[in-house]
Amino acid sequence: MNALSRRRFLRGGLEVLGAAAVSSRLTTARAAAAASISTEDLVPSDRGAMTLLQGAGCNVVAVRGPEGSLLIDGGLAANSDALLAAATAATGNARVNTLINTHWHPSQTGSNERVGREGGLIISQEVTRLYLGRAALSACYDGSYGPLPQIAWPKKTTRDTGSLEFAGQHVEYVYLPAAHTDGDLYVHFPERNLLVAGGPVLGDRWPVIDIRNGAWVGGLLNAYEQLASVTQPDTRIVPANGGLVTGAEIARRRDIYQKLFTQLFVYLNKGFGPDDVVAAHPLKAYESELGDPSRFLAGAYESLMYAYVPN
Ligand SMILES: [Zn+2]
Repeated sequence: MNALSRRRFLRGGLEVLGAAAVSSRLTTARAAAAASISTEDLVPSDRGAMTLLQGAGCNVVAVRGPEGSLLIDGGLAANSDALLAAATAATGNARVNTLINTHWHPSQTGSNERVGREGGLIISQEVTRLYLGRAALSACYDGSYGPLPQIAWPKKTTRDTGSLEFAGQHVEYVYLPAAHTDGDLYVHFPERNLLVAGGPVLGDRWPVIDIRNGAWVGGLLNAYEQLASVTQPDTRIVPANGGLVTGAEIARRRDIYQKLFTQLFVYLNKGFGPDDVVAAHPLKAYESELGDPSRFLAGAYESLMYAYVPN
């Protein structure tokens, strides 16, 4: 494969999450003007108030607490004011007590600065903290992102798993290595039978593998195996974007990615390039429900080539 087509597929294999053109003032201004946050009760107010907030750039979950809310992900910075106002309206909490970043992409970490300045505790995987301390490039957005001011960096990190008690609930956060970035966490509320999956899961689209930043298709498959092992068929799962999915659906997608993973090695042995893999349509049976898989396939295969094919 020549350098040009390699670059084209590198870029083509990734998505543009929430149109996050973070270096463009124009786009930022448009996003601020357009930010309209919708809310959906995950747990009704009289039983604890957990709310799904959509429209800030990623799915955000807010939980009412005794001394401020728990927020999982924070949307784009341009939408942070609108998001935090909606979180306050949903929880009755004036401030965020604890913010968990599922990963470092701008769609997830745009409220870090404000939450940090207001004294909230920010939690993430250790690699996410490292990324926020420098300028990072990704095909998931235009331009470069970061470094964020130090006040916006997570203060508590894990390399593996961690947990906290929040408003009487046990909350676990667990590392998913190399799945969507190289610093992904999922957040599990076992007593609510609810899990926030972060970057590896999208509601009704193929996932994104940020192959320039440590993720690969084997990590994605491993993430689905982990998620399927800790959920039940009726577990409600909040994806990074889009509507909720069930544990049964996660198990079904794990099976799809297991089969695909094996098939990609067959293609590798045949000497296929990403173009050939896309043309072979190995995911044809799922295109009507999850859309055109070309970018996902090219990125997944490219990540395999990085690992197994020397230049
Ligand atoms: Zn992401």
